[in-house]
Amino acid sequence: MFKKILVANRGEIALRIQRACSELGIKAVMVYSEADREAKYVKLAEEAVCIGPAPSSQSYLNMPAIISAAEVTDSEAIHPGYGFLSENANFAERVEQSGFQFIGPSPESIRIMGDKVSAKQAMIKAGVPCVPGSEGELSDDAAINKRIARAIGYPVIIKAAGGGGGRGMRVVHTEAALVNAIQMTKAEAAAAFNNPSVYMEKFLQNPRHIEIQVLADKHKNAVYLGERDCSMQRRHQKVIEESPAPGIPRKLIEKIGERCAMACKKIGYRGAGTFEFLYENGEFYFIEMNTRVQVEHPVTEFTTGIDIVKTQIMVAAGERLPFTQRQIEMRGHAIECRINAEDPYKFTPSPGRITMWHPPGGPGVRVDSHIYTNYFVPPNYDSMVGKIIVHGDTREQALARMRTALSETVVEGIQTNIPLHRELMVDAKFMSGGTNIHYLEEWLAAHKR
Ligand code: ADP
Repeated sequence: MFKKILVANRGEIALRIQRACSELGIKAVMVYSEADREAKYVKLAEEAVCIGPAPSSQSYLNMPAIISAAEVTDSEAIHPGYGFLSENANFAERVEQSGFQFIGPSPESIRIMGDKVSAKQAMIKAGVPCVPGSEGELSDDAAINKRIARAIGYPVIIKAAGGGGGRGMRVVHTEAALVNAIQMTKAEAAAAFNNPSVYMEKFLQNPRHIEIQVLADKHKNAVYLGERDCSMQRRHQKVIEESPAPGIPRKLIEKIGERCAMACKKIGYRGAGTFEFLYENGEFYFIEMNTRVQVEHPVTEFTTGIDIVKTQIMVAAGERLPFTQRQIEMRGHAIECRINAEDPYKFTPSPGRITMWHPPGGPGVRVDSHIYTNYFVPPNYDSMVGKIIVHGDTREQALARMRTALSETVVEGIQTNIPLHRELMVDAKFMSGGTNIHYLEEWLAAHKR
């Protein structure tokens, strides 16, 4: 096992990884930007290294600074968390070339999955069902593209191969709009992702977002840890996640889960990963794979009792998965609310000093957050400041626990989206379960203020 790991991230996930290291008896070296000097995990750290000024481009995305921080502290491995460099194949490669273990899959796996066209091709080969679409990248031939769209059937969606974070997508309803839409998406993709490659898919009208968590080791063992329903989204960003997914037959989940575990074995995947699917009319359609730990991983940790972050570290060190598929049992129901520092209805960011923080507690309640009273939320990063996760025997109990937890939570000095979560937890349609990916946007439009 490693003696020392460098945590190349910030915020709640940095603290989460620090906690996992502590339980495993591993020293965690924390890195921080000048804006994060006051972070809780920096104060708790035995060793912490400042890697640059506030802008991420000069700190959390600064590869040489991070690698030299690992060198000067004699770290053996680097945990990238999520976001930032976590899905950057060049970073993973440079980490390994510098003699450190990257806690995640091989650079090659990251590269294949990072390009949505090659990811889809790999999945089709591995027997994972995908959204019907173009075989690969679209050419500039308008006649061919029209033919592809006609064969798929309108509406279609044009997506950037290098896209991420819900950007680089355009829905097309008619043939008249097709050629222009392809050109515009290409230009945007070139500017935003430095990769003009785009592809076409059938646009599913009312799907749910269902994802499968997997874990794999270096010895060709791979398991799936059930599903998460992440359909409550705003601008393609997840707001609430839960497991199990209400109303989907277990048999279907098992079937798709087994396919995902099998695909991991086929592509030689190692570490934690998530297969994201759209689910409509009883069918799963693969959209992308995330080759890292996800924000919503605690939901699965609650239902399976498996520590995903600790397992990531163990398999990176070469250990075998300590459980087989048959030993994994899902119990009860878990729900996560992402707490963002923002106006709950206008969504404008609300950084600043937190003058009061009272986290909730009690049975089945987990809070993953790096904030504290008098902490200053810097304006430079993502607005998520923590997560409240609850577990109950049933979905009803989990909902009741979340309501109680949210009613106990006090954050003063900044605005958060807690008032929105409080309303959603008593919304009749959400309470009945199984809402699709458009529901939250529709709800927000109907509750404009
Ligand atoms: P990103 O990497 O930017 O998150 P994804 O491919 O995961 O992109 O898609 C993000 C979201 O966009 C999905 O959760 C879904 O809401 C929507 N989406 C993507 N592809 C389709 C599709 N073929 N039909 C309908 N909605 C889609």
